[in-house]
Amino acid sequence: MAEAVQNQCAHPKCTCPVSEDQQYCSQACSEAVENGSMSNNCGCSHAQCVGEMAA
Ligand SMILES: [Zn+2]
Ligand SMILES: [Zn+2]
Repeated sequence: MAEAVQNQCAHPKCTCPVSEDQQYCSQACSEAVENGSMSNNCGCSHAQCVGEMAA
């Protein structure tokens, strides 16, 4: 899918777009990174997120 260039969630497993003034697409991603659980799914619950599809 071709989309306009946007910032991407700072969670390494998360591909969700975020606003320019945001680092994460969700509180779940922010907490995951802060907790050092970046190897797990981001848990943002966004349907388009690959982090949710990774079993
Ligand atoms: Zn995500
Ligand atoms: Zn995210």
